[in-house]
Amino acid sequence: MIDAHIHIERGPYTKEWIDHFVRQALYMNLDEIWILEHCYRFREFVPMYDGVCNYSRYIDHWFRETAGVLELSDYLRLIDEIRNSNPAMKINFGLEVCYFHQFEEFVYQHTKNLELDFIVGSVHFVDNFAFDHKREHWNTVDVDTIFRRYFDVSIELAKSGIFDGIAHPDSIKLFGHRPSFSQEKA
Ligand SMILES: [Zn+2]
Ligand SMILES: [Zn+2]
Repeated sequence: MIDAHIHIERGPYTKEWIDHFVRQALYMNLDEIWILEHCYRFREFVPMYDGVCNYSRYIDHWFRETAGVLELSDYLRLIDEIRNSNPAMKINFGLEVCYFHQFEEFVYQHTKNLELDFIVGSVHFVDNFAFDHKREHWNTVDVDTIFRRYFDVSIELAKSGIFDGIAHPDSIKLFGHRPSFSQEKA
């Protein structure tokens, strides 16, 4: 068994911190783990978020608190250290990149030479709307429109060809919202 979506952002970039995850994975009898970081933690990706920060004061505040606190080289250094330490189980290291259609080329240029094991794209924003932060943010949007656009954007993500996979493809139902229309294809 594999756990392919593990974030390490609540601790420092040290071997000791990674060892916590390895020990837990061994305890759970996993065969391998996939560790990934959100791209917004790294200064290199901050320019992608101007639109969503301008759109929402809440997101602007959240972004100032959490984003751009590291550089990609910090992460790559940790990955090197762990790979060279002969870890007790197979670990893949990757990135979770927010998908914005207009930044496909930007993402490609910033990731093509990184020695990562995988890069997943994820939809956290639908036309600038951050749907996965707070339930009450949905009060002023049209649920059907957001659902339709979520899947439009997810398909754009897949077609971009710049990712190895898509993260949490059903996260739009996080707060229990459902569209009024059927999503089955005839
Ligand atoms: Zn994630
Ligand atoms: Zn995510």
